Amino acid sequence: MLKPFEVHVQASALAAFRPQLTGVEWEALQANAVQARDLMAGRTCWNVSSTARGGGVAELLPRMLAYARGAGVDTRWMVVRGTPAFFRITKRLHHALHGSRGDGSPLGAAERACYEEVLRDNAEELLVLVRPGDVVLLHDPQTAGLAPTLTAAGARVVWRCHIGSDTLDAEVARAWGFLAPDLAAARLAVFSRAAYVPPLLADRSVVIAPSIDIFAVKNQPMAPEVTRAILGHTGLVGLAPDASEPIFTRTDGVPARVSRGADIVRLGSAPAPDMPLVVQVSRWDPLKDPVGVLRGFALLLRESPGLRAELVLAGPSVTSVADDPEAAATLEAVIAAWREQPHFLRQRVHLACLPMVDPEENAAIVNALQRHAAVVVQKSLREGFGLTVTEAMWKARPVVASAVGGLLDQVRHEVDGLLVRDPGDLPALAVAVRRLLDDPVLAARLGTQAHEHVRTRFTAARHLSDLVALLQRLDARVERGAWAGHLM
Ligand code: UDP
Repeated sequence: MLKPFEVHVQASALAAFRPQLTGVEWEALQANAVQARDLMAGRTCWNVSSTARGGGVAELLPRMLAYARGAGVDTRWMVVRGTPAFFRITKRLHHALHGSRGDGSPLGAAERACYEEVLRDNAEELLVLVRPGDVVLLHDPQTAGLAPTLTAAGARVVWRCHIGSDTLDAEVARAWGFLAPDLAAARLAVFSRAAYVPPLLADRSVVIAPSIDIFAVKNQPMAPEVTRAILGHTGLVGLAPDASEPIFTRTDGVPARVSRGADIVRLGSAPAPDMPLVVQVSRWDPLKDPVGVLRGFALLLRESPGLRAELVLAGPSVTSVADDPEAAATLEAVIAAWREQPHFLRQRVHLACLPMVDPEENAAIVNALQRHAAVVVQKSLREGFGLTVTEAMWKARPVVASAVGGLLDQVRHEVDGLLVRDPGDLPALAVAVRRLLDDPVLAARLGTQAHEHVRTRFTAARHLSDLVALLQRLDARVERGAWAGHLM
């Protein structure tokens, strides 16, 4: 029997936002909190996802929940459990929704039966907890199959999809075909961008872009010497003899130490503390194209062997992300591509698996790596919304991202980062990275603008106001008993 488990989240006070907002913005946030409390009085807002660690949803949910609880709304988080076969199917669905074939396995009746069986088990436990009138936010394809059961139990079910494809091809259609029976039971759907809304949900979809928590351990301010100390202690850069202590501040305000090392494939020694680093931090997923980053960097160095720069490709340790069965194979492919490179290149490319046992320690390492980077790359072939890019932009780092999916909303080319039009164009990637390494004035200008863009568009304060608007729409639809409105 597969039972979901709960992740408990402590409330975070909204007061933290005050210094970051104008007077008007702060009043609006408080008014939103009052509305949210009124709309949800006596009710619970459940979030259901498929992993508590690794990846964008696991990053986003606990912080948004913390602020919703801080606003006085009873918000809770349940994580479904699945079998390896279930997660293989849902990863295949994940690829298909991105318009990618993934492992090319079928999405037929047998897969549908497996998917339903796992979610039927999980639903049993949820039915004990969810009461009529509660709001349930089901995240991504892994949990969509819970919609019919929870709707039948009287919950107001919203499906939130964090991925998508700008164009409808055969793969995308296959995914929608698979999910359609479940999605018919959802009252509303939420997408990260308008282009992702499929025809079958056009009459009940809203667009809400994700956000980062600017106060989280991953984004908290960090002095350069602490950044270097954390990277030195984890083995990501050389440890200076007079290094500071690798100390960060936990969410509860208590200082903590980074103790665990990263598991690193490299030839020779760690980069010197002053070596400019080109960095991509992502799950080990073929759609993040770590092999492409490596080959693009190799191209750059073959053309300019004297260039002072090294590459760090970092991701979570491969056993740690429950719903991502592809991680180990992707990492193997990156290591194989690394082995093919000549000696001088292997000395300058570092493949790092970051410890995930303590999520806040992991966040501090990612924070340090992004802050220390000379250039942050996100060479995704597809991307729903790349949190890593927004995280780097908040840290005023210059970014180079592929011009795909949500990255197009996150980065304005030449304004707050550089976009590479064709994600497969390695020479273009090399040129963009080279420009930022060569031109510190450009890099600083893009970084400064990037920080401001994130402050105004991609923080939890904006996200909360969108979620309150969602609750209002949900409420209005109940009162009208109607489904006809075009909500986008
Ligand atoms: N991440 C992390 N540790 C890692 C690799 C990634 O904490 O070793 C985080 C990263 O900082 C980001 C999230 O995982 O917050 C990935 O989200 P993104 O939207 O970039 O991609 P997704 O995994 O959702 O496809």
